[in-house]
Amino acid sequence: MILVTGGCGYIGSHTCLALLRAGEEVAALDNYSNSKPEALVRVQKLANRPFPFEEADLRDETALRRVFEQHQIHAVIHFAGLKAVGESVQKPLEYYDNNVAGTVTLCRVMRDFGCKRMVFSSSATVYGSGNPSPLTEDMPTGQVTNPYGRTKYMLEEILKDICAADPEFSAVLLRYFNPVGADESGQIGEDPRDIPNNLMPYISQVAVGRLSRLAVFGNDYDTPDGTGIRDYIHVSDLASGHVKAVEYANRQTGARIINLGTGRGTSVLELVAAFERANGVKVPYAISPRRPGDVDVCYANADKARRILGWTAQMSVDDMCRDSWHWQSQNPEGYR
Ligand code: NAD
Ligand code: UDP
Repeated sequence: MILVTGGCGYIGSHTCLALLRAGEEVAALDNYSNSKPEALVRVQKLANRPFPFEEADLRDETALRRVFEQHQIHAVIHFAGLKAVGESVQKPLEYYDNNVAGTVTLCRVMRDFGCKRMVFSSSATVYGSGNPSPLTEDMPTGQVTNPYGRTKYMLEEILKDICAADPEFSAVLLRYFNPVGADESGQIGEDPRDIPNNLMPYISQVAVGRLSRLAVFGNDYDTPDGTGIRDYIHVSDLASGHVKAVEYANRQTGARIINLGTGRGTSVLELVAAFERANGVKVPYAISPRRPGDVDVCYANADKARRILGWTAQMSVDDMCRDSWHWQSQNPEGYR
C-alpha cells in the first residue's frame, strides 16, 4: 500500500485519484490544516473505490506509528507541508517545524517499520535566482530567498543523507514547476483558504467575480511582453508523474532528482489571454509593481523525467485554463 501524506491537498488529492485509477492500494493522511476531507470523499466517488484516510499530523509520532501499524505501507508519497512563501517569512519556526521536523519524524517512523521508498514534493524554488532557464537538475541549489524554499532545499539534503546511510533506501525528489488546472470532472481542484497568492487561482476568482481584478506584478521584466514567465503544468499531468515516480522508486535505490515541468514558458499576460480565449470570459487586470523576490523567467528542462520515468506532460495551457475554470465555476466557493 502507498501512503500519501497531505493526500487531501491540491496535488495530493489528484495524485490519490491517479493512483486509484492505476489500480494501486492507497491510504491518505492529512491534518486538514489547509484542506477539507470533502476532497477525498469526492476522490472516492470519482475513482469509484473507497480507501482509508486518516486525520493525523506528521509531527505526531504516535499517530504516524498507528497508521503504519494499521496498514502495510511499502512506499510514501510525501506532500504534507506548509507552502505559502510570504507566510514562511513571517512564521519561519512554523515552517521549519512543520516541514523539516515533520519529515524527520516521518522518516524515523518509516525506518522503524522498514519502509524504504519515498517520493518527495520538492520545488523549482530550490534553483533560486542564479540559474538560467531551462533549469536542469544538476544546477547548483541552495541560494533560496525565503524559509519555505529553504525547507525544500534542506529536505532534499536530508533525504540524500538518508540514502547515503542506507543503501536500500530510495528517494525520488520531484521538483515541481507551477501546478495549475484540475481534474477534468471539475469535482476536485485548488481551494485556497484566503485570497490566493498564485496566479491561476487568482485569475479564476476574478473570472468568477469573487475578486475584482488581477494585479499583474510588473511589466518591466526582461521578457517579450515584460511580464514574468513560468512553466505551468496541469495537475493531472503532475499526478501521473507521481504514479511513474513511485513505480520507479520501487525499482531503484538512492536519491534521484527529477524536474516535473512541461519545458515551456508562459508569461502572465499570455496566461490571462489563454484563460479568456479558452473560457469566453473576461479577466480585468492592472499592471502593479513587481512582487519582491520574484524571478523573471523560470521553466524546466524536462528531459530527465522523460528519460528516467518515461513521463512527459500531455496537456496544453488551454487545457489548464479550461479545467481550472471548470472547477472554479462549478465550485465558486471551493469545497465549502
Ligand atoms: P496543499 O496545501 O493543498 O496540500 C498540502 C496538504 O498537507 C494539505 O492538505 C495540508 O492540510 C497537509 N498538511 C500540512 N501540514 C501537515 C502536517 N503537519 N501533517 C499532516 N498534513 C499536513 O498544497 P499542494 O499545492 O497540494 O502542495 C503539496 C506539496 O507540494 C507541498 O509540499 C508543497 O510545498 C509542494 N509544492 C507545491 C507547489 C504548488 O505550487 N502547489 C509547487 C512546488 C511544490
Ligand atoms: N503573478 C501576478 N499576479 C498575481 C500572482 C502572480 O502577476 O496575483 C505573477 C508572478 O509575479 C509570477 C507569475 O504570476 O510572474 C506566477 O506567480 P505564482 O505566484 O503563481 O508562482 P511563482 O511565482 O511561485 O512561480
